[in-house]
Amino acid sequence: MLRTAPYGEADLIVTMFTEREGVVPAIAKRARASTPKRRLFLEPFHTLAVELTSGRGELSSLRSAIIDVARPHLLDSASHLDAGGMACRWIRALSPPRVAEPEVFAALEELLDGLERETAPTTTEAITRATTTEGRLVVFGLELLDVLGYGLAFDACARCSKPRPSGKPAFVSAEGGGVVCEACRPGVPSDNRPLPGAVLDQLQHRANAATLSIEHAAQLLAVVRDAIDRRARAIGSKKGVR
Ligand SMILES: [Zn+2]
Repeated sequence: MLRTAPYGEADLIVTMFTEREGVVPAIAKRARASTPKRRLFLEPFHTLAVELTSGRGELSSLRSAIIDVARPHLLDSASHLDAGGMACRWIRALSPPRVAEPEVFAALEELLDGLERETAPTTTEAITRATTTEGRLVVFGLELLDVLGYGLAFDACARCSKPRPSGKPAFVSAEGGGVVCEACRPGVPSDNRPLPGAVLDQLQHRANAATLSIEHAAQLLAVVRDAIDRRARAIGSKKGVR
């Protein structure tokens, strides 16, 4: 569930991200009139099994929804709610309606599962974890950009395609499209520090971003957010996703 908005006396307009059809807007009739238990099912961050029928015009009709995978602990942590909310806003801004994006769906599931494990009191991951919330968001954001065809380049200059030798540090810029070499850098505004070569090598395998240091994860998250915001504006979002 990406978003819900009240509609009329008792209905909800919901925006869901589904495995089969991608982003689907739907009307949930009498969802606000029903019991609190039913309403819980329409909260974000759980994986729901839903039954949809095509309705009038663009809106489908949500017939039923049950929780398939519950992530109750995620809902208790403000920072994890923020992270999950950011991922949902990214999908809403970039993923075209009614286009199945199974890789993005899988990446979102992985992100939410990871956030739930971090917050669950029974897990040992909180103690031994080598991953950060920022790192998980970077992994998700990079995959989202990759799958939708806006991927950031780390193995070569995004401007002139000159390969970046492994181990070589470089500046990374959302406006540039990834790594920007020294020759191309004057044309690309960036107030960031260069990222170490080992970090950039690590990013060529996207999943490794989850284990970045807090400092590098935060720097990359800023680049990913900027890249997603720019892309959202380029495809017509007026407010972007800041
Ligand atoms: Zn270049």
